[in-house]
Amino acid sequence: MRLIDSHCHLDLSAFDLDRDEVMQRARDKGVTDIIVPAVKASGWAKLHEISRSHNPVNVHAAFGLHPVFEEYHEVNDLLLLEKQLNNESAIAVGECGLDFFIDQFDKAKQLSFFTGQLDLAVQYQLPVIIHSRKSLDLVLKELRLRPSLNGVVHSYSGSYQQARQLIDLGFYLGFGGPITYPRATKLRSLIVDLPLESLLLETDAPDQPDISNHGQRNEPSWLNNIVSCVAGLRATSFEKVAEVTTKNSEQLFGL
Ligand SMILES: [Zn+2]
Repeated sequence: MRLIDSHCHLDLSAFDLDRDEVMQRARDKGVTDIIVPAVKASGWAKLHEISRSHNPVNVHAAFGLHPVFEEYHEVNDLLLLEKQLNNESAIAVGECGLDFFIDQFDKAKQLSFFTGQLDLAVQYQLPVIIHSRKSLDLVLKELRLRPSLNGVVHSYSGSYQQARQLIDLGFYLGFGGPITYPRATKLRSLIVDLPLESLLLETDAPDQPDISNHGQRNEPSWLNNIVSCVAGLRATSFEKVAEVTTKNSEQLFGL
């Protein structure tokens, strides 16, 4: 049995001092593969280097421009992204998306970077890793315009209806630490109601720790807490959840 952390920002400076130990602890807990989505162009070289190093786990790089970091993105970054996708092996395009949670964000700028990245994903036939907060209807609209796309909406926070629409479009829903909090009743009912075959599990480390590690830097070795939580909510075994969600990640990312 093996686990795949489908979303972990292992390249960020939060892990600079002990990245190898973090990866080894993950490996010791059965995590064999970690998908690392980039956040901004200036970080791509470092991420690429990490993914090519000899690591205790397989590190797979996705390249993209994260909506929350919009202030760093320049128009030219989309051209650089195309070059990056041409030159380096990328497992996906991302992290891209729309974040309308904070009013001050420039929605028009986010939308143009998002659609630019979706078009590149279509062109390079890669899955997309999507970040969406308070923007799912617009995300769905853009995905419908590009029927060949597949991917994952990570840290899913939408409705059941929207989740079904995403699944119909060939997308997976990513879930992590937030589902472990008993007050997250809406998220927890999604875990029960959605098919296990549509779920990807993630830590989103260093952010979004599960309830047992509340307030700490999150890390991929704690993915097993997410697996246990899903198993508990669905009244099934840890092994079953691990097996199906690992297969889901393998299928989406071609592992
Ligand atoms: Zn992320």
